[in-house]
Amino acid sequence: MTILDQLAASRADRPAALAVNEVSYDDLCVGMLRVAWRLRELGLGSGDRIALYCENRIGFVYAYLAALRLGAIAVPTNVLYRRTDLSHVLDDADAAMMLASEQTTPNAQEVDNKRTLVMAEDLEAWAIDPSIAPLDGVPLPDDDAPAIIIYTSGTTGRSKGAVLSHGNLATIATQVSSAWRWTARDTLAIALPLFHVHGLGAGLNGSLAAGGRIIIHERFDATKMLATLREPDVTMFFGVPTMYVRLLEQIGTGDAPTLRLCVSGSAALSPEIHAQFEERFGMTILERYGSTEFGFALGNRYGGPRVGGSVGVPFSGVRVRIDAPDSTGVGEILVSGPNVFIGYWRNSEASAAAFVVDADGTRWFHSGDLGAYDAQAQVYRIVGRIKELIISGGFNVYPLEVETEIDRFPSVRASAVVGVPDAARGEIAVAFIEADAAFEVESLLAYLRERLASFKLPKRIEVVDALPRNALGKLEKSKLKARV
Ligand code: AMP
Repeated sequence: MTILDQLAASRADRPAALAVNEVSYDDLCVGMLRVAWRLRELGLGSGDRIALYCENRIGFVYAYLAALRLGAIAVPTNVLYRRTDLSHVLDDADAAMMLASEQTTPNAQEVDNKRTLVMAEDLEAWAIDPSIAPLDGVPLPDDDAPAIIIYTSGTTGRSKGAVLSHGNLATIATQVSSAWRWTARDTLAIALPLFHVHGLGAGLNGSLAAGGRIIIHERFDATKMLATLREPDVTMFFGVPTMYVRLLEQIGTGDAPTLRLCVSGSAALSPEIHAQFEERFGMTILERYGSTEFGFALGNRYGGPRVGGSVGVPFSGVRVRIDAPDSTGVGEILVSGPNVFIGYWRNSEASAAAFVVDADGTRWFHSGDLGAYDAQAQVYRIVGRIKELIISGGFNVYPLEVETEIDRFPSVRASAVVGVPDAARGEIAVAFIEADAAFEVESLLAYLRERLASFKLPKRIEVVDALPRNALGKLEKSKLKARV
């Protein structure tokens, strides 16, 4: 099963139904085949890498599907990348073609572009040009053939290209659509970037597999998103925690849109936002845990309790193991299943290091995240990245635990705790805080002393205007560490 099979089934069921924005399933499939034909005329074919370096727009979707249909490999590329990162992706993937747009060409022109450049504006015109013949006679790709390469947002060293097969993508789409009871009657609104597995793997692919409609915003604007969420047919929203914070800033009690499902992921959702959302929207956010390499591993049960601060249970077909747990049960999360990626692109060393193989041949992926299983609540919790663990005076300090307490303090909007070297303790915790209003640092410390063991207390607190975040709203802690 591939995304193309799922798309074909959805088209057969309801050809005239809207699939993406205002484009129907029929038009999407015909447009995909016209674009695939043009790409083949440009010399592209099976196994060639096609970099998709443009903002969320219909041209991205056509190019992505056409690449899959040709058996080529799509390389969704972060639009915030500039010269260094962009050159790295294009060279490492050895892309034969690059899709850009009026918005991204100025950056695209900064790199030494040896490849065919196609503009999204032109590609969108091909998709609706009746004089272009739809692609015919090219075999459909196999399940185990590479479908996409997504470069991980690595904080250390050069990012690595995670290769996901056609089978991986179809599995991920099926896992999320069945877990979230997604049907052809659903309309999902997102502003998540399509260059990331959250927007692409869960959002777009999930919607096409379910046969529903997806409305894609170019970027997140809380006012515009709320207007979309108020449209009568819209039933679902997927976002990252910062988007929920922005939505809550705009919503009073009683005027929230009525939705069936809201999903959060990519970073920890604070229990406060979880509770505030429940109060104002009359529904709980479903939190899930995932990554580029395996799509999604854990999620709150659709119909079950959604405990704030927890990420629920494994998706169907996924196995999760806590490796080498400490005395509190915290260890590295290992993931296994048909959703787990093939390996890193042309990087056998990193691929070998990422997996451990059991005696029975099961391949487990080292997520690099720390988590624990709460046997009482029967849910998993994410504690943070291994690399972010702070060891202070021999004790483990999990930044997320400290951040969760700091975020509860009045006036604090968000916080980030990082470890910095210290001669006496090895490392100490330093907290950076984004606040809505001025507050007494001493009062915050007194508040934390009542709630946290002394070795977990931040030894320094700095108030900043804005914490550094990437395109997905994820904190960029390496930038904070560099400031200390
Ligand atoms: P990416 O590959 O960019 O999707 O980043 C994946 C990483 O995001 C994971 O390895 C986790 O560190 C983090 N992450 C994803 N979902 C969650 C979540 N629900 N809670 C906490 N961290 C998360």
